Amino acid sequence: MGGFNSGRYGGKQQCEHSLALDVRIMARKGLLKAGSRFTWTWLNKSDILILASGDYLTLQYAFNGGALCSYPVHLTQTPCYYGGQRVWFACPHCQQRTAKLFMKRGRFACRTCHRLRYHSQALDPMARLQWAYSRLQNRLAEDDCKPKAMHWRTFERLHDRLEDINIKIDREFNLRAGAFLRRCGIDWE
Ligand SMILES: [Zn+2]
Repeated sequence: MGGFNSGRYGGKQQCEHSLALDVRIMARKGLLKAGSRFTWTWLNKSDILILASGDYLTLQYAFNGGALCSYPVHLTQTPCYYGGQRVWFACPHCQQRTAKLFMKRGRFACRTCHRLRYHSQALDPMARLQWAYSRLQNRLAEDDCKPKAMHWRTFERLHDRLEDINIKIDREFNLRAGAFLRRCGIDWE
């Protein structure tokens, strides 16, 4: 039986901290075949029982110790560029195609319906730039050098983006420093 310890977090909920169902992982594992029945478990030990019936899934779970609820989520398909079909959830709330459904207050819906934001979107402009910078930097070798396996063209593109972000960080820093100095009564361009 599916159950949730808690699907809620303080403040505005972010995607990375949400309990999500990913249809791509289910498809890859062959779990969407009609008649399939499986338990989907999250890191916080919450779990949910899922029954596949061809063009829809039935989700069964109890939220925060409440009554067992059970409702269907429809699946849709679009043709793949390389042949075959790609499967999507139809969001139970807006019916839009989505690869992921998120749990909030006991209900599953797409990111837009739940008004979830990614970690980067929750940050202020400076923190967002620094976050983007460190993410790019993580792809490079030490001292921002080219990792052995990386193509030169990819490396150059990454480097251009790093420089671009660096310029934006400088600009943001100057704006803030300027505002601070003006508040202190110091004349600054
Ligand atoms: Zn939706």
